[in-house]
Amino acid sequence: MDTLLETPLPPTDPREHLTSPTTRAVLRVQHTMLAAVREYLSEQGFTELLPPVIGPVTDPGARGAKQVDVDYYGHRYKLMTSAILYKQASLTAFDRIFCIAPNVRLEPLETSSTGRHLAEFHQIDVEIAGASREDAMAVAENIVRHAVRRVVERAPDELSALERDTGAFAGLLSGTPFGHRTHASAVAGLHDLGHAQSPDAEIDWVGEALLSKGSDVPFFVTDYPKGSRGFYDKESRDTPGTLRNFDLLAAEGYGELCSGGEREHEYHTIIARMRETGENPAKYAWYLKMVREGIPASAGFGIGLERLTRYVAGLHSVWQASAYPKTPGVVSP
Ligand code: AMP
Ligand code: MG
Repeated sequence: MDTLLETPLPPTDPREHLTSPTTRAVLRVQHTMLAAVREYLSEQGFTELLPPVIGPVTDPGARGAKQVDVDYYGHRYKLMTSAILYKQASLTAFDRIFCIAPNVRLEPLETSSTGRHLAEFHQIDVEIAGASREDAMAVAENIVRHAVRRVVERAPDELSALERDTGAFAGLLSGTPFGHRTHASAVAGLHDLGHAQSPDAEIDWVGEALLSKGSDVPFFVTDYPKGSRGFYDKESRDTPGTLRNFDLLAAEGYGELCSGGEREHEYHTIIARMRETGENPAKYAWYLKMVREGIPASAGFGIGLERLTRYVAGLHSVWQASAYPKTPGVVSP
């Protein structure tokens, strides 16, 4: 696909958007994917929890995006930017959990034309007690493969209405394992392509699109540098300064689908990582009390639902994967 720098904005009339044949086909594809994800994870022994929408604190790791405050009986609460804190806490009840979690992030205005950013979106959020990064990557790979397979089987008319060539999924469906490369190798590859990617940061969205264009099958990027992610991504014991984490990038230039990793779960390490990342531990009282009393070691991830829909349905822009899209900076229903 072409990287669309100038993606058209959604229609301002919600009826026009909802009733367009494209939106209806996309939402059927998304529905089929959600059913497939629930089917797969339920079979694997996961329990679905309904995630909170507001809380006293939320994930601080949403780079560049602003959080939204809510007046909660005179207390300043936040709309959830991600469910990470609740996912870790929930492992005290169940070993394998997932949720389909709404997130609100006021992304910078310049992201309104990336085709990949919404101010409100959803994650397929998974957390597994006692798991390694590799365990979590295997689950993420299985979810994507299973969701694509079910869409190809159960929504062929929608895919053809969207002119999505299912040949694009040949490798994925035949079981070709998703590739793996480290962040350092991805940065080197981007430098070779003439793209000035910082070695100390997340791969920027232009870089992701470049890497993703070079692959027919989704692939993992691992070992992001400390400082590029939130306090909860576990630091490697063998290579300090490197995190035991990963992203999953789609094929064909669609870019990042998912971020995840092993989690820090020990009180003193979490406090130290909060301080290093400029977070005030006092804000995280409920979470830190749970951590101090003990939460399991875990690994998990969040797959952007609208991003996955965009890839599977072959859409120009992520807003097309939402019934009521909130494009950054655009006043919308
Ligand atoms: P993050 O923790 O920032 O990596 O977010 C987890 C996943 O959510 C990403 O891998 C994306 O698939 C998705 N995501 C993050 N931010 C946005 C956004 N602004 N709009 C749509 N999807 C997003
Ligand atoms: Mg990410």
